[in-house]
Amino acid sequence: MPLDPQSPQPPEHVSSPLEAQISRSYRPVPLTAVTITDSFWEPRIRVNREQTLPHIYRLCRETGRVEAFKLDWKPGVEPVPHIFWVSDVAKWVEAASYSLATHPDPDLVVKAQQPDGYLNPYFTVVKPEQRWTNLRDMHELYCAGHLVEAGVTHFQATGKRVLLDAVCRYVDYIDTVFGTQPGKKRGYPGHEEIELALVKLYQVTGEKRYLRLSQYFVDERGHQPHYFDMEARLRGEDPKIFWAKTYEYNQSHLPVREQSEVVGHAVRAMYLYSAMADLARELGDYTLFQACTRLWNHLCTKRMYITGGIGSSWQNEGLTRDYDLPNESAYAETCAAIGLILWSKRMLQLDCDGRYADVLERILYNGMLSGVSLDGHKFFYENPLASPGNHHRQEWYDCACCPPNIARLLASLGQYIYASTDTEVVVHLYIQSSVRLTLDGREITVRQETTYPWDGLITIQLGMDESTVFGLNLRIPGWCRTARLSVNGDSLDLTEHIIKGYARVERLWHPGDHVVLALDMPVERVYAHPDVRQDTGCVALQRGPLIYCLEAVDHTVPLHRIVLPRTADLASHFEPGALGGIVVITGSAQAAGDTDWEGMLYRSWPATAYPCTITAIPYYAWDNRTLGEMRIWLQAEK
Ligand SMILES: [Zn+2]
Repeated sequence: MPLDPQSPQPPEHVSSPLEAQISRSYRPVPLTAVTITDSFWEPRIRVNREQTLPHIYRLCRETGRVEAFKLDWKPGVEPVPHIFWVSDVAKWVEAASYSLATHPDPDLVVKAQQPDGYLNPYFTVVKPEQRWTNLRDMHELYCAGHLVEAGVTHFQATGKRVLLDAVCRYVDYIDTVFGTQPGKKRGYPGHEEIELALVKLYQVTGEKRYLRLSQYFVDERGHQPHYFDMEARLRGEDPKIFWAKTYEYNQSHLPVREQSEVVGHAVRAMYLYSAMADLARELGDYTLFQACTRLWNHLCTKRMYITGGIGSSWQNEGLTRDYDLPNESAYAETCAAIGLILWSKRMLQLDCDGRYADVLERILYNGMLSGVSLDGHKFFYENPLASPGNHHRQEWYDCACCPPNIARLLASLGQYIYASTDTEVVVHLYIQSSVRLTLDGREITVRQETTYPWDGLITIQLGMDESTVFGLNLRIPGWCRTARLSVNGDSLDLTEHIIKGYARVERLWHPGDHVVLALDMPVERVYAHPDVRQDTGCVALQRGPLIYCLEAVDHTVPLHRIVLPRTADLASHFEPGALGGIVVITGSAQAAGDTDWEGMLYRSWPATAYPCTITAIPYYAWDNRTLGEMRIWLQAEK
């Protein structure tokens, strides 16, 4: 069938309890329909395009990741291609395709494809005899998934089919290997990813077998007898000696519809749940939607950091127990934050509820954005919420999943701002931009002007050829306590317009109509649930969507000695020259003195407190100046 690279195809008709909801489901907005002119995000997207993408490509070359596709590796030669190198290159191709800055040439990748369609250098030249023998640990289907995403995005951006055709051949071959039919392996990925990629491939090609293969991988997961047990025995291994000890690690401990707690490796979990939300929408599968909402609620009410980071332990790169959110040792991998953005976006398409957008925004401005330095050349893999001064971004990692992941997220940011149906326009995020939307055949232009996240004033201008009736839905962020809305200068009573966190105004809109939304953005003190033992007696500072932190470079006393008085005035002002231009928060506090502690480690009376001042900066901007201590959670006055 003919393909239009710019427009994802709408889902086919479905019949199920979700039908009514899905028939109203919000269409993704093609990236090319959105133009971002935002003073906060546009410079970051430019640095991503001009600095980060060439930097990642250079390191992919220098480390052998690109060369591996030549398939000329010989035993004994260093470097040995690694099992997940494919995914690093694939994510780079995807990010570069979104930005079209570096014109990725996928020819080298395509030439590595084998006659049967297989495409993975490690299992072609290093361990060919081990193809499909260890799905649990070896990232084979995960790498395939990232290639599929790269192929889809490269086609959508360039209209060129070379990589898309190659990944279709690869998936056609995978489809002959896995499934429930006799003679096929009943396996599924140890590291989920291909499931969501196959939905994208279905959306762009219209080939239902790709959707069915995604459905198979998701439905087969966690059933008994357990595939990873059988597969281990075939390798001559005892399944019980699985290094991670539990199949919770890769979310295969139960069939997905029976899962109610978010467990295991955080990135794997996020990619799986993203695919479940995709399938719920494409298939009208209410049981998958229920599982998704149950899991999302569990994660966001019990296991998510204030930054939106998830996965508190390095041991499983993932989740531990409810309310276990250590700060200094937080793992909070950048990829996991991105995974939760991907999942929240899909939940928003199923159910336009502001709580999903609130989490998405929380991660975007905090736990994700901290993953890259202001100059675009250094990256965090882990995003702790406190540091004694020894945690710093690096130019590269042996396991380099995070840098290209953040690059593709930033390059595709335009997809997250708006959504529409035939009768509704939704603004999820306040980012200065314009978008062209088609509502039931009529073209509408929405233009928003704002200096968010520094200020909460947003002006929306509507453009159209003739007056049109539709519902305009503007998100009222969960962090905002007071908001005001006016249409063409007339104030509206917001309480009459709020539906699930969005102010909805339906009327006959005329060309040139303008809407002004004012979100009050004072400095707020934030407290954690009493069972988050690591934050007991502590307070964090937030302004708008931004979580703040203290850095040693702005203070004369160690940060761990600072106590924030209950009533201290906290002021904020914009500093254009600091860290790319930021609003800083300043205030008076108390600090424990050490001058009379000479020769003592313990004593029977407390330290004397003396006044000090604090300067807080947005968390995302930390570790861009002189190295030193950092903390988000401050001691609060008792
Ligand atoms: Zn990562």
